Amino acid sequence: MNRELLISNLRNIPNFPKPGIQFKDVSTLFKDAECFREMLDELTRLYANKGITKVVGIESRGFIMGAALAARLGAGFVMCRKPGKLPGETIKKNYAKEYGTDSIEIHLGAIEPDDTVLIHDDLLATGGSMRAAYDLVQFFKPKATFINFLIELRMEGLDGRSAFAPGTDISVLLTIDE
Ligand code: AMP
Repeated sequence: MNRELLISNLRNIPNFPKPGIQFKDVSTLFKDAECFREMLDELTRLYANKGITKVVGIESRGFIMGAALAARLGAGFVMCRKPGKLPGETIKKNYAKEYGTDSIEIHLGAIEPDDTVLIHDDLLATGGSMRAAYDLVQFFKPKATFINFLIELRMEGLDGRSAFAPGTDISVLLTIDE
């Protein structure tokens, strides 16, 4: 992966959505045609031989590359959404955020035991939202589960990878140390 291409296209927006947060704006990664294609090419290379049958995207920025990658891999695409958005019967997982709690849902029947799943989101911070999605996916007892982020944010006091058991298969395209 061309790290410089990613860095030059990623926009940092200070103090969004609240003071003190350095928001990594992935919209500028998607806006640039070359950058978008390179990310998709790299993810396709990483997962082409893993037998992925379902890509799960986390609302909402995980939907963009997740859906494009699913089409490339010949896999189905499943949405993991904020509460109350999915119309069918769902299972729900609550998780802790920096302040307060949140939850996400997935449709019952979205994944089968013979699926091999890749869960994708744009960014790893505390790992709370991906861990909740991972736990939801495990409810369906898939054959295997892989995790991918476009960006891993590392800073003092923030270790998103520790939310997952050692040996969990996690890939990232770009790590940012702050
Ligand atoms: P976490 O659950 O703490 O790992 O947070 C990851 C989720 O929150 C992802 O869906 C990101 O889109 C979003 N997020 C958290 N922190 C940031 C940040 N500094 N910049 C951009 N997105 C963020």
